[in-house]
Amino acid sequence: MYRTHTCGELRETHLQQTVTVAGWVQKTRNKGFMIWVDLRDRYGVTQLIFDEQRTPEAVMQKAASLGREFVVQATGTVIERESKNPNLPTGNIEILVSELTILNPSLVPPFTIEEKTDGGEDLRMKYRYLDIRRNPVRESLIFRHRVTMEVRKYLSDQGFIDVETPYLIKSTPEGARDFVVPSRMNPGQFYALPQSPQTFKQLLMVGGMDKYFQIVKCFRDEDLRADRQPEFTQIDCEMAFVEQEDILQVFEGMTRHLLKELKGIEIDTFPRMTYDEAMQKYGNDKPDIRFGMEFGELNEVTKHRGFKVFDEADLVVGIAVPNGNSFTRKEIDGLIDWVKRPQIGAMGMVYVRCHEDGSYKSSVDKFYTEEDLVQWAEKTGAKAGDLICVLSGATGKVRTQLSALRMELAQRLGLRKGDEFAPLWVVDFPLLEWDEESQRFHAMHHPFTSPKPEQIELLKTNPGAVKANAYDLVINGNEIGGGSIRIHDREVQQKMFDYLGFTPEEAKAQFGFLMEAFQYGAPPHGGLAFGLDRLVAILGGQETIRDFIAFPKNNSGRDVMIDAPAPINNTQLEELYLRVEVPQKENE
Ligand code: ASP
Repeated sequence: MYRTHTCGELRETHLQQTVTVAGWVQKTRNKGFMIWVDLRDRYGVTQLIFDEQRTPEAVMQKAASLGREFVVQATGTVIERESKNPNLPTGNIEILVSELTILNPSLVPPFTIEEKTDGGEDLRMKYRYLDIRRNPVRESLIFRHRVTMEVRKYLSDQGFIDVETPYLIKSTPEGARDFVVPSRMNPGQFYALPQSPQTFKQLLMVGGMDKYFQIVKCFRDEDLRADRQPEFTQIDCEMAFVEQEDILQVFEGMTRHLLKELKGIEIDTFPRMTYDEAMQKYGNDKPDIRFGMEFGELNEVTKHRGFKVFDEADLVVGIAVPNGNSFTRKEIDGLIDWVKRPQIGAMGMVYVRCHEDGSYKSSVDKFYTEEDLVQWAEKTGAKAGDLICVLSGATGKVRTQLSALRMELAQRLGLRKGDEFAPLWVVDFPLLEWDEESQRFHAMHHPFTSPKPEQIELLKTNPGAVKANAYDLVINGNEIGGGSIRIHDREVQQKMFDYLGFTPEEAKAQFGFLMEAFQYGAPPHGGLAFGLDRLVAILGGQETIRDFIAFPKNNSGRDVMIDAPAPINNTQLEELYLRVEVPQKENE
């Protein structure tokens, strides 16, 4: 037996017992006649003590030779600690060591393995196995485990069956680039890694599985934005014989379950908002509703007063910043510069100070009277002491800009609290989305999403206005996941492919198997997928998903620990009938 107890286990109730523990040396303090060692394992830290008077000479010498991260096994007696450490669960005791075995020495680690480390991100990723020894990383991984266990428990209790689907498949319809894998046995042919198990889970419904789930890796070869990984994990689900409402109920239940079990939080309201309403009130299809600052549209009360900027704009829209009148002129100028940065792209910002005495002062006093400003305040919900910020321009753009400003201000004002959770469903997404580049409509969710049945005819005349039975779960301004009711009728699916510009041949080559399956009695079905990495990060109160992934990739999609991706050797290339030609980069 390597140990009788873990390093997190011993208390005063164990006093005088002979115990054996094993772990890593976190820290040593050597006073010559006395040596203390903090021994760490997954469960905690226990102090070992070696004392000239009571410890055998040979053991004393071995203790003096210990370095950081040595792996040791120590046997001794649990004794009361003279100076207790109330911050440590084992802080009242220590082990007076009589036997010490060095199980494995260690090189000096390249960064300190403590709560707070001196190691930068790159170094920590290169030695991720050392990083994982640190409390915060270990805790995050354990937290992820707890989330997945609760997810499995909830879904299994609801009758969902965990079914694995293959990774070596062909292109799936999520609209990203595929990662491909050459097939040695089928020269010149390639598998694609799944962007999601979408088609398979639909086939499982045709197969009569009724309720499916899987915690599954998905692969999308997209340009990496912050907090996106080329491989990520979904909680993927599908149900047969359901309407949208059934699905929303089940997964609202799951969200409530997770918040209760993992955070001890019971959510009162779980609002639903249409996509149109979200865009109008928050300029965003994933609104953070933990704080107000809802948009007030001001077209009615700003037009035709001679202020050209507003007159020429499609939309004039503002938000009331709580207590924003306390901002100095310099701070407001800073905000104006902030919205004018290329990343935001506003032309400028008009503002109104709402003074405590009920009077108003705007940056466009030349054009608007105090009575006008009273109306602006009404429409934005501004109170005395607030600041109204107004942007104008083309509707879509200006909403995005004001949404960014709203989030930035909420962040600065401390309104985005890590321990508050506000989930909501955004429903009735548009079916299609206009793509400027290709000058055509694309499926906003994916091509299997069902239009609202009553709007199918509208597809012919005004496709952009057709709404889908599609929904997203949003928590605290983050899209946690989404799904839809699917098309289960072959004819409708065929039509949908037509609208999306697939030729019949393309549709057949890519999704023929699904179309064929639909001829053999496909039940009405629908589902969704949640991004597990993000869900865990948000429940864990963090913004970055990397902390919750054991071995994440960096911003260029590299695993710097194992150094992947990497070239493969010529034999491998030959076996795969591949020839590699990498264009020389300029200036090389
Ligand atoms: N396959 C979809 C996605 O990955 C989710 C769904 O529609 O169920 O976003």
